[in-house]
Amino acid sequence: MNLIFLGPPGAGKGTQAKNVAETYQIAHISTGDMLRTEIRNGTRLGAEAKAYIDRGELVPDSVIIGMVEQRIKADDCANGFLLDGFPRTTKQADALAELVEIDKVVNIDVPSEVLVPRISGRRTCPKCGAGYHVSTHPSDICDQCGAKLSQRDDDREETVKNRLVVYAEKTAPLIAYYEERGKLITINGNQTIEAVAADIVKGLSE
Ligand code: AMP
Repeated sequence: MNLIFLGPPGAGKGTQAKNVAETYQIAHISTGDMLRTEIRNGTRLGAEAKAYIDRGELVPDSVIIGMVEQRIKADDCANGFLLDGFPRTTKQADALAELVEIDKVVNIDVPSEVLVPRISGRRTCPKCGAGYHVSTHPSDICDQCGAKLSQRDDDREETVKNRLVVYAEKTAPLIAYYEERGKLITINGNQTIEAVAADIVKGLSE
């Protein structure tokens, strides 16, 4: 099964994508995570991407499409994959359609006013990758490994606002794109993590 998770920054795509990929035993491909790994590893692609990410802009289509094309050929995608954060433009969606058949697109719908507080409260563990939110986890120490939690640079309020503008202009048109192709399932993302997860599993089984 090949899935796409669509939704604005802060919709909970990453959290839900991880669970769904585990449930269906398919590869979880987060283009944001792949780019952050490139940055950490000090690669040329990472250096190029960082300038865009820090401004809340999209990395150029040519860079991202090449990266995803390689990634979906890997052995762990034999059973299918879940794309989290890709495609983000119509050009990326067209390129993907040339490469592979997509079964379903899960659109996680969240009212825009809850997104900024959701994102600016996110913290991650730089050591083990665990994710937290200050509203439910006020401590800045990771429960899993004891490391000090940090905030993604692009989760700061000014950058978040630009990411939301970019989402509305460049990515939101993909909702209609996949609706027209009969692939879209829209889920109410303004519920508990467990309720959203249950709706996604139900939506995918129908
Ligand atoms: P994410 O972790 O998905 O929120 O992505 C973080 C940042 O990485 C985005 O704000 C973009 O700058 C960049 N990025 C991730 N995926 C893509 C994509 N499919 N196309 C362009 N830029 C991307």
